Amino acid sequence: MSHSSEPKLPFLPFALPELGEEEIAEVVDTLRSGWITTGPKAKRFEQAFADFLGEPQIECIAVNSATAGLHLALEALGIGPGDEVITTTHTFTATAEVVRYMGADVVLVDIDPKTMNIAIDQIEAAITPRTKAIIPVHYAGLAVDMLAVLDIARRHGLKVVEDAAHALPTTLEKELIGTMGSNATVFSFYANKTMTTGEGGMLVTRDAELAKRARVMRLHGINRDAFDRFTAKVPSWYYEIVAPGFKYNLTDIAAAMGLHQLKRLPAFQQRREAIAQRYLEALSDLPLILPPQAPEGDVHSWHLFVLRLSDDAEVTRDEFIERLFESGIGCSVHYVPLHQHPYWKERYGLTAEMFPQSQKAYERTVTIPLYTAMTDAQVERVVAAVRAALGFA
Ligand SMILES: *Cc1c(COP(=O)(O)O)cnc(C)c1O
Repeated sequence: MSHSSEPKLPFLPFALPELGEEEIAEVVDTLRSGWITTGPKAKRFEQAFADFLGEPQIECIAVNSATAGLHLALEALGIGPGDEVITTTHTFTATAEVVRYMGADVVLVDIDPKTMNIAIDQIEAAITPRTKAIIPVHYAGLAVDMLAVLDIARRHGLKVVEDAAHALPTTLEKELIGTMGSNATVFSFYANKTMTTGEGGMLVTRDAELAKRARVMRLHGINRDAFDRFTAKVPSWYYEIVAPGFKYNLTDIAAAMGLHQLKRLPAFQQRREAIAQRYLEALSDLPLILPPQAPEGDVHSWHLFVLRLSDDAEVTRDEFIERLFESGIGCSVHYVPLHQHPYWKERYGLTAEMFPQSQKAYERTVTIPLYTAMTDAQVERVVAAVRAALGFA
C-alpha cells in the first residue's frame, strides 16, 4: 500500500486521552502542595461527582480503579464462598474476576444480539438458590434495561451492582446511570474511558451502610469514625483497624485530573455524539451491523463504536482489521468473551455453543477509533479506510 510517493499519515491510535492545560496545572498545583495522596482534591472530586449525577447527597467513593470499586461493592454486600453472581460473558474480565476475589462463583449469560448487553430474558433461567447478585454491564455505553434487571432482582431477592465502566454519561429514561436505584454503580477513569484520571474509579451508592463499609475497606480497614473521634482528643497518631482492608484509595494527583475532566464531560459527550452520528451516516450503506443508538431522548456515552461485519461482507474480521492497520488505523475487539478465555472456560466447563449470540458477535466485531481528541479529518480518514477495507469507494 506504500507504492505512492505521498507522505504516509501518522498511525491513528485506537484511543487517546484528552488532557488539557487545566488538568496539567491542577496536577502541578497538587505536586507543589505537598499533599499528593488522598486528601482535599479526592474529597472535592467525590462531591463534584455527586453534583454531576444531580444528587448532592449520593455517596461517591473515589477509588484507584473500577475493579477496586466493584470489589469493594461485593465485599460490602457480603458476597462470599458458595454464592453465585450473574453477569454477561461479553465483558472485560474485571467484571467477573472480582466475584472470584470474594470466593464466589460467576454464572455467565449470553447477550441480546441487538444491544450486545446481557440477554434480560435469560437472567432468570440462570438464577439458582445460591444466586446473590447480578452485575449488568452497560456495553459500549448503551444502558442495560435496568428497570427489568431491578425487577428481576426484587422478585428474587438479589443485589445489583452496575459495571458502568463504559456508561459515563449514559441515561435510561432520562435518568443518569448511577442513579437507577441498584445497590451500587461503579465507573472507570482508566486512560481510554470517557473521562480519565490515568487510573481511577468511582463507587456510587445511596446505601449509607454500604458506603461506610467501602470507605473503611478502601484504606486498610481503618475505622474513620474512630479516627475522627479520637483525633479530636488525642494526638493524630491514633487509629483503629477493624478489618483486613485493601489499598484502593485514589490519589490527589489523579483526582486533580478528574476535577477538570468531569467539568469537560458535557463537551466530551457532544464531541463523541457528533463522531458517532458521522460514522452512522457515512457507513450506513456497507455490509455492516452498526451499533444501536440510545432510545429517543436518552444518552449513549459512545465509549466504544463497535461494528459487526454482516454475513455478506467479503472479508473476514481478521482481514478487515489487518487492512485498517495497513491504512494506519488502530482498532480493537471488545471483547474476546469470557467463555473463550482459558481461566473461565476451564473453571466452568464453558463452550462457545453455550453463548451463540456472544460468539457470533465476537467473530464479527471491530471497534474503530472514537475519542474527543480526533479531528474531523481523522474521522474522515477512518470512514475512508473502513469503506476501502470492505471494497467500497
Ligand atoms: C475498563 C473496564 C473495567 C475496569 O476498569 P478499571 O478502572 O481499569 O479497573 C471494568 N469493566 C469494564 C466493562 C471495563 O471496560
